[in-house]
Parts: sequence; C-alpha cells; structure tokens
Amino acid sequence: MRALRTLSAGNRSLLRATDEDGLLHEMCRVIVEEGGYRVASVGYAEHDEEKHIRVMASVGIDRALLQGLALTWGEAGTGQWAVATAIRSGEPSVGRHLLTEPAYADIRDYAIEAGYAAVTAFPLRIEGEVIGALSVLAADADAFDKAEVTLLGELAEDLSYGIANLRTRVKHREAEKTIERMAFYDALTALPNRTSLCDRLSHTVANARHDFRPLALLVIKMGQFQEINETLGYMEGDLFLRAVSARLAPFTDDVRLVARVGEDEFAALLPGAGAENATQVAQQLLKILREPVELTDFAVDAHASIGIALFPGHGTDASALLRRATVAAGQATHSAAGYALCISTPDREFSQRLALMGELRRAIANEELRLYCQPKVNFGSRQTCGAEALVRWHHPRHGMLATGHFIKLAEHAGLITPLTHWVLEAAFRQSYAWAEAGLDMPLSVNLSAHDLRDPQLLDRIKGLFATWGTRPEMMQFELTESVLMEEPASAVDMLTRLKALGVKLFVDDYGTGFSSLSYLQRLPVDSLKIDQSFVGNMLDSKDSAIIVQSTIELGHNLGLEIVAEGVESEGVWQRLATLDCDTAQGYFISMPLPAAQFPEWEAQSRWHAPA
Ligand code: C2E
Ligand code: MG
Ligand code: MG
Repeated sequence: MRALRTLSAGNRSLLRATDEDGLLHEMCRVIVEEGGYRVASVGYAEHDEEKHIRVMASVGIDRALLQGLALTWGEAGTGQWAVATAIRSGEPSVGRHLLTEPAYADIRDYAIEAGYAAVTAFPLRIEGEVIGALSVLAADADAFDKAEVTLLGELAEDLSYGIANLRTRVKHREAEKTIERMAFYDALTALPNRTSLCDRLSHTVANARHDFRPLALLVIKMGQFQEINETLGYMEGDLFLRAVSARLAPFTDDVRLVARVGEDEFAALLPGAGAENATQVAQQLLKILREPVELTDFAVDAHASIGIALFPGHGTDASALLRRATVAAGQATHSAAGYALCISTPDREFSQRLALMGELRRAIANEELRLYCQPKVNFGSRQTCGAEALVRWHHPRHGMLATGHFIKLAEHAGLITPLTHWVLEAAFRQSYAWAEAGLDMPLSVNLSAHDLRDPQLLDRIKGLFATWGTRPEMMQFELTESVLMEEPASAVDMLTRLKALGVKLFVDDYGTGFSSLSYLQRLPVDSLKIDQSFVGNMLDSKDSAIIVQSTIELGHNLGLEIVAEGVESEGVWQRLATLDCDTAQGYFISMPLPAAQFPEWEAQSRWHAPA
C-alpha cells in the first residue's frame, strides 16, 4: 500500500516539475513523507577517475554527511553498497541488510542509531545509459517484498523519464535561443543584424513621431573589405570585420544600437539625434574606425564612410531612412570629410525617382531601350574609324530620357548589371548586322563601376564573341577615369582580363578624375578620351587648352592614342589637329544616331571610309 501511495504521489510531482534539482528533491520527499520510508536519495555517477557518486538530493539524512562518505561506483569500498551495485549492473540492488552485511560495517553504528535496517537501490536510465541510482532505506530489515520492489522500480523509471523530459526541455529552450540569436544576430560579429535593426528602427520611428522628436540613422561603409577578401582571402576579411565590429560595439547602450546590415556595412541608430549630434557621432566613429586594423601578418588602413539620414527630414519610415542613409554613405566615399548627410530631396521627388527605377527594370524587359551610335573620326585620314555605343531610353510617357541621369539611377538601384547586359547583347548584334551590310567598324561599349565587380561579365563577353563570331578588334570598351581610381586593385584585374580578349580599352572622361599618368601607365589601356569639358572650351579657356595639349603630349609619350570628346566646331577640330590629336568625337562630326541608321550615314558622310 505504501509503495502504491508513493508511486501515485511521485507521478504527481513528475507532472509539476519544472527543473531537475526540484524534481529529484520532490521525489525523495514523497518517498519519505508519503511513503513512510526512512531515507530516499539520488546519486549520479560521475565519470571521473575515482568514479565518484555525486549526491543530488536526499531526504531523511543529511546530504553533507552522505557526500562526506566519498561514495564510489567503482568496485572497492563503498562500491559494494546497493547504490553502486545498481549503477554498475543496471539492475535494482534489492533488500540489502545494513546491520549484517560486511560492506556496511563502517556505518553500522550510525544505522542502528538512526533506525535504518534495509536498503534497495534502483538504477536511473536515460536513453539506455545509467546516469545514477535512487536509493530507498527502510526501518524494517524485511521491507522490500517483490510487489513493493516492482512498484518502486516503476517509480524509478518514472523518475528517469521525468529527468530525460526536463533535459529535453532545456535543450529545446537552448535551441530556441540559438535560433533566435541566429535570426536577430550576425554570426560573424555577434552584432544585431539587419532584421534587428529594422525592428528597432520601426519602433523608434513610431516613438519619435509620437513625441515629435528627431532620430538619426548612420550607415557605415567599410572600404577595402572587398579588396582584403580578394587579395588576402576570406579569413582575413572576417578578421577585418570582427576588428571593426569590436570598435563599433561599445557604441551600443540602452538607447543607441549598432548593427551589421550588409557585408561591409554597419548602421548606428541614434534616437533623439538631430543633424548636429549625428554629425558629431559620425566624426567620432570615423576617428576610431580610421585606426589601422591588425590582420594576421600586417596592419591595413581602414577607410570608413558614413551616410546620415534623419527622421523626419529625410524619410518618415524605417525603410526609406535605411535606403537613403545607404545612398548617402556611397556619396560620402567621394567626400573629404568621410561622412555625408542625405541630400534632402523632397520625398515626392524621391518617390518619383524610385518609380523610375521600377520602370527601368521593366524597360529592360520590354525593349524600351535603344542603341545609338556616335562616330569617331581619325584626324590623319579624316575617315570614320569607329563608333561609340550609347544607350537611350524611350519612355512610353516621358519620351527620350537623359542618358547620364538614368545611368546614375541604374547605378544606385543596382540595375547596371542588367542594363550592361542589354547593351552588350545589342552591340554585338549590331556589329554583326553592320558586317553583313559591308561596314567593318569597331564599336565601343561603356562599362560602369558596378560592371567591374560583376563576376559574370567576362564570361558573358566571351560568350557573345563566340555566338556572333565577332573579331576582337571590332569590340572596344570604355571605362571612366573615376571608376579606375575608385577601385584600383579590382580595376587592374578586370582590365587585364578584358585586355586578354584582344580588345582595345579606353579611359573615358579623362581629366575629371585624379589619376596620374604614371598610374595609367600601369593599366593595360590603349587610349585616353579627353573629357568634353576641356575640349568644349579649349578655344576660350587657357587652362583647358593647356590640359588638352599636355594630355596629348604626355599620352603620346606613354604610347597612348588620344581621343577628344565633345568636338563641336570646326575651330576646335583645327586646333586639335595642330596639337596632333589622333581621334575626334562630337557634334561637329555627328550627333549620336540610331544604330541601324549608322551605315547609311557613314556611306554618305564626308568622313566616309572606303572599304
Ligand atoms: P560618355 O561615354 O563620355 O559619352 C559621351 C557623351 O557625350 C554622350 O552623352 C554623347 O551624346 C555626348 N556628346 C557627344 N558629342 C558631344 C558634343 O559634341 N558635345 C556635347 N556637349 N556632348 C557630346 P550621353 O549619350 O548622354 O551619355 C552620357 C554618359 O552616359 C556617357 O558618357 C556614358 O558615361 C554614359 N553611358 C551612355 N551609354 C551607356 C551605356 O550603354 N552603358 C554605360 N555604363 N554608360 C553609358
Ligand atoms: Mg564613353
Ligand atoms: Mg566621356
């Protein structure tokens, strides 16, 4: 009867248990208080050298006293006790007599005094492995008959089940925590991730709106990361990012939040901050970020640029603020200060620009783009020697859009890659069509900064050469000087691989960047295109005239061919001819025209090149 009582009370405590220690103690209490046994205790088998038994819970006897006995589940000494036998054998050790067995000789006097006569121990088993034992002591030497042992054995099994269950629950909780950590934190830097930031930003924006308070969002872009990754490998790249995050992490406090929001982009959220405060923080951050970063073998200079967007001036929701701060960070790369406030375009204009970006995506798909060509003429022969491919967007409602403007938009919107792909396809097809019409004229295609980072670009170009059977000298590529200066390492790499295809390479808009001729000398380029801003006013401005003249001379010394862009008048043409310029392009020769009309124009023009 008492074993049955114990079993049902034990089951109740099993259901209520929330932690392992609590469960063990409660089970022991039930066995003693409800079951009327003298002692109940639970020991776990340690896997140390001495094979100790750790007393986890005990009722009816002082736990410290038990622990002081240095119980073991090895063979020697207390290893012959019921608890040790049960652990070793995995079977109950039943009805052991404390007053007569030699194994218990050392504690006999104590047992007599305390009134214990018999003990039974039951193994506790989880997933097949014995983790310890439950010991029950009774006053009566003949306690523990068969029925009682069966019931107590069941109780021990229930206890094992309860322990396993609680441990699984703990594991689940840990797994849940890990999942949460993974969902909201960046694994590499342990900083909150983009999702966390957006969550917090949305809340902060809502509060700011309610309290009529401003807030600032800073997006921090780390230069060099790409370069470190490419030249030193991912391990060093990771090292770099971890070092940077360690510097940023202390900026997080109860109010502010720093997060990693992109590969080499971080963000800082500053509730309550206006322009002045945000600028100060940006300067502070730049100072600590600009310290060199120690990598494995050497230190690299860190370049950070920071874009700042403010609520409500620059945006009134989380995504607008993040987007605009990111754009500003891009602009900050070109500024001496290293940080830039968002240019405050009114929200309406901004959304119109966004709409246009969406339309550009469609335009590429819907063939709203057109390929135009502008001829280049050789000074010596006065004959057409090539053409530049220029894209045009014929918008169904707005008509022809300014090319420079939407190219910039495409660059910001990450649409340059599909746009370039479109232009390349069109240019190769056009070149083939011209050849079929008997016109053998090189066509040059403009590439953007983003194109240099497109891993598929080279294969695509190779594929087009193969598809159309185009000869390498029929295709040329133009890259603006600023692009080459922005990312010198990757630019050199890409240019070298392009050059290996056998094509001619042009530095576009030369004179607007800051490249030295000695830097250009190291690039595999064939030709410089002097920017039209110098050519256009070289007859009026002495400075421009000097720049044009010296570029031609120095370029020639380096073995580079010189093209003058923006030749609008006979006067400029004549002047360039006397300066020994090689090639001219501009309205004086022809406006850009639809590519299909080019052969006809060429055949009839005074610059006609006989086949
Ligand atoms: P760019 O490569 O320097 O092209 C020359 C630009 O100068 C063209 O403007 C052309 O129409 C204009 N131009 C030609 N002759 C004269 C002249 O005598 N006077 C004046 N004032 N301008 C002249 P467009 O077509 O508007 O293109 C602007 C820029 O957009 C281009 O500058 C180029 O950087 C970019 N672009 C054009 N098409 C593409 C393209 O397919 N892909 C990429 N990535 N960029 C392109
Ligand atoms: Mg060009
Ligand atoms: Mg140009």
